[in-house]
Amino acid sequence: MSACKSTGSGTGAAPASANSSNSKISFNTENVSTKEDSDKNNIKPIAIKTAKFVTTPPALADLKHKLAIIYSKTSEQNFWTPKSYAQLFMSVQSQVMMSGLPYDLLNEDDLLDIDKISQYKTLIFPLFSHVKNSQVDQIAENIKQAIDQYNIGIITAGNFITNIETGLSRSGDAYNYMKDLLGIARIDGAGPVDIQINVSDVTHPVFINEYFDNEVILSYQQNFTDYFMPTGAYPSEVIATQQIGNSQVENALITVINKGRHVHFSTVQVMADANLLWPVIQWSVWGEKPPATLHMGREKALFVSRNDMDQSMFNEEVATVEFPLLDQLKIWKDQYNFVGSYYINIGDNAVEGEFTDWGISAPLYKQYIALGNEIGSHSYTHPHNTDILTATQVQFEFSDSRNIIEEEIELSDIGTAIPGNPEKLVTALKILPYVDYLSGGYAAKGAGFPNSFGFLNADTDKVYLSPNMSFDFTLIQFQKKTVEQAKQVWSNEFDTLVKHASQPIIHWPWHDYGPFDVFKAGYTLDLFESLIAKAKSYGSEFITGKDLSERIKSFKQSNIEVSKLGKTITAKVYSSSAGKFALNINQSQTIASIDQWYAYNKDTVFLDQDGGIYTIHLGIEKPVTHINKLPSRSQLVSLYGNGEDLKFQLSGEGTVEIITKCSDPSAIKISGAISSYETVSSDKILLNFPQNKHHQETLVDITCQ
Ligand SMILES: [Zn+2]
Repeated sequence: MSACKSTGSGTGAAPASANSSNSKISFNTENVSTKEDSDKNNIKPIAIKTAKFVTTPPALADLKHKLAIIYSKTSEQNFWTPKSYAQLFMSVQSQVMMSGLPYDLLNEDDLLDIDKISQYKTLIFPLFSHVKNSQVDQIAENIKQAIDQYNIGIITAGNFITNIETGLSRSGDAYNYMKDLLGIARIDGAGPVDIQINVSDVTHPVFINEYFDNEVILSYQQNFTDYFMPTGAYPSEVIATQQIGNSQVENALITVINKGRHVHFSTVQVMADANLLWPVIQWSVWGEKPPATLHMGREKALFVSRNDMDQSMFNEEVATVEFPLLDQLKIWKDQYNFVGSYYINIGDNAVEGEFTDWGISAPLYKQYIALGNEIGSHSYTHPHNTDILTATQVQFEFSDSRNIIEEEIELSDIGTAIPGNPEKLVTALKILPYVDYLSGGYAAKGAGFPNSFGFLNADTDKVYLSPNMSFDFTLIQFQKKTVEQAKQVWSNEFDTLVKHASQPIIHWPWHDYGPFDVFKAGYTLDLFESLIAKAKSYGSEFITGKDLSERIKSFKQSNIEVSKLGKTITAKVYSSSAGKFALNINQSQTIASIDQWYAYNKDTVFLDQDGGIYTIHLGIEKPVTHINKLPSRSQLVSLYGNGEDLKFQLSGEGTVEIITKCSDPSAIKISGAISSYETVSSDKILLNFPQNKHHQETLVDITCQ
């Protein structure tokens, strides 16, 4: 009989919680005591209680580790293109997601409000070179106050508050604010020239245990650069350098401590082109590795496959392209648990055979969805240049197509993948109101900024995703690569994206016509399968674009507060949809146990829907019955336990792995949503949920002698 930690009603029912679905759960444990139990005189009224309670979200000022990223419209207007500024802004967001710290998005006008900005721990300026002349002195004064009085850290790149909206330098010493606030001054620039960025202090917390001494972080051929130096006004350190040409070495990454912890990157490329920003953010906020960080998944990477089904609007090709693709997806689902997003065109030219016969296509796409895939819109007629569409055409292509697809396939809030060439920012912003989320143009080092995932600006609540790997079409039909060469490109791109990352997001674009080489263009099935296999073996969770969009929105709305005392970490997670999220314990030690919480492995806590307070003890793992592994994409809706028994609700499909408190329990009884289990070792059992749906409560009743 287990000790009962319940302080509630004693019935085993979940305590009411203010705003979570937990309040709906009422599991009368008395009903699960069976005759068998009674016969053994081992009645187990499993009075198990929630691990944690839901608290009201904290005031911003109470969150000690919250970040803000500032969108500077004035800098955007003076950047290469508005789109590339938006990509930079999103690239920084994805690095914040990797840092596992909560964040807000602000506009430059928010900098006029010291009460607002003083509530953050670190302000990240992806680029803040240009400021309105009418605001510049007030903004600089507020940033100074934020640093001096509130110890706020600043992270930025290149020039900082040096120019005005016309593009001109500020009058007088344009660098005076940079020098005063950050203790950094510009020396000079160079280019076009070959540039290499190297680690120069591998012992700094940004690099320690992750990089090797003098490691090459980035390299550029025939590019432009700037370089800066510390003025000596505040304690500073150069932790990465840039080799310019053959022999010139200058600073690339400077840390400064002046009340807050500040970091300056020589250029926006150095800031965003490698996975260098997230440990910098962690250092600015914590001064060391944070004890625990919040992540959007439980696995090592999030892999979002985007298939543009260009052949879907050619009625005759549905049978020869989209049906065989479905058969292949069934195989890949079995082999790799692979799912993804499939974006369809409808077609609007029946005479030319461009139309959709929903009598055939709707049941077909429902089979795609049944596998766990997503169907979205790839527009109505696949325009190749969305920048020239009129407002009416935008509405037709993106709103009408969405409405029809939703109606015919019985879906709601579907996402969209943009057809044709990469679109301008203004076009993306015109399309956005009509879609649930938008997968847009490719972005990568040398072509915008890599890992552009998040919000295009501080004012939208729709997620934008940029493919960060090459399109299959680009490699095979445009660049005329062989399959072996194309495989190598994808393999290299994947390796680069995951290098020094913290749960990277991979957004991979391909086409329906590829796997079976419909055009005899040189694609092979193996080309695609090789990447899927590689992503799987790396430890990716295959998810849809819509799932990622939901997770990003949820991450942005979530908050965490973390503290550490000795070997105990306390993490408060405020969220309304954290059931796919995890807390990572960034310690050399492993999780021994968590007070009244029973879903974790050695270094990761699996969260349920509404978060809560987790008191995590580090050390040697204690014998506690707990969920050790949850299937990809599944959502842990609720979880209760007492150290020996568990009950939980899961939404999704796959296998839940449970470690039991004792080896070889004298009895194991599984009831509720499923009744069978599989024993894989003396203390490990597997519960299989073959159907992708919401499963009512499952009770795991363990008897240890
Ligand atoms: Zn297309």
